[in-house]
Amino acid sequence: MKHFTIDNLKNIENEVQLKRSDAKIIAVSKTFKIDQILPLINYGHIHFGENKVQETLSKWQNLKLENSNIKLHFVGKLQTNKVKHLLPIIDYIHSLDNLKLAKKISDEQIKKKLKPKLFVQINFENEIQKSGIAEEKLEEFLNICQNSLSLDIVGLMCLPPNDGNHLKYFKKMKELKLKFNLKELSMGMSNDYSDAIDQSASFVRIGSKIFGPRS
Ligand SMILES: *Cc1c(COP(=O)(O)O)cnc(C)c1O
Repeated sequence: MKHFTIDNLKNIENEVQLKRSDAKIIAVSKTFKIDQILPLINYGHIHFGENKVQETLSKWQNLKLENSNIKLHFVGKLQTNKVKHLLPIIDYIHSLDNLKLAKKISDEQIKKKLKPKLFVQINFENEIQKSGIAEEKLEEFLNICQNSLSLDIVGLMCLPPNDGNHLKYFKKMKELKLKFNLKELSMGMSNDYSDAIDQSASFVRIGSKIFGPRS
């Protein structure tokens, strides 16, 4: 079984193991076709990520039925009216970023008797082009999600500011995780996953370094 995506994945797996980390690698397959995903599934890879609801459904509905061990991660901006479509197929949502969405997921998970694992997305420096909860509002937001809405918050996710200081934000993530007694950290992409793992990332989200550049 020789395929360049498998070689790319193996290289990253080796690097993770060298760092003595058990971080999971999410292969972010957005924009890539099923043909390009299949070699990784056949290799035995488990964690895959998408960022659009329609694309997730059309690509993964059959693939997940045929490969029940696969875990699907939604990493994109999620509109409340799409939650009901996404919930039956998704295992993790990394982009919980507002109260309206939290309430919607809470309602739908009761109706559908499902319990997706959720990451609260943090917006450091309150960047307007990114979504996420401000650090100062995290405590209150977590409190509502966990105590009033019975959401399964497993951890925190971030897309750090592109200011060359990603390490500083990864360190903050580690501190916040400890402070709020959370289990997981979703951080690190193709360009910065190595530093993320050093700061105890448990899920790294890798697209182009596995699949090649997106057009
Ligand atoms: C696309 C995407 C990734 C993967 O990005 P690469 O730089 O290709 O590794 C990770 N996280 C999110 C939220 C994304 O949208």
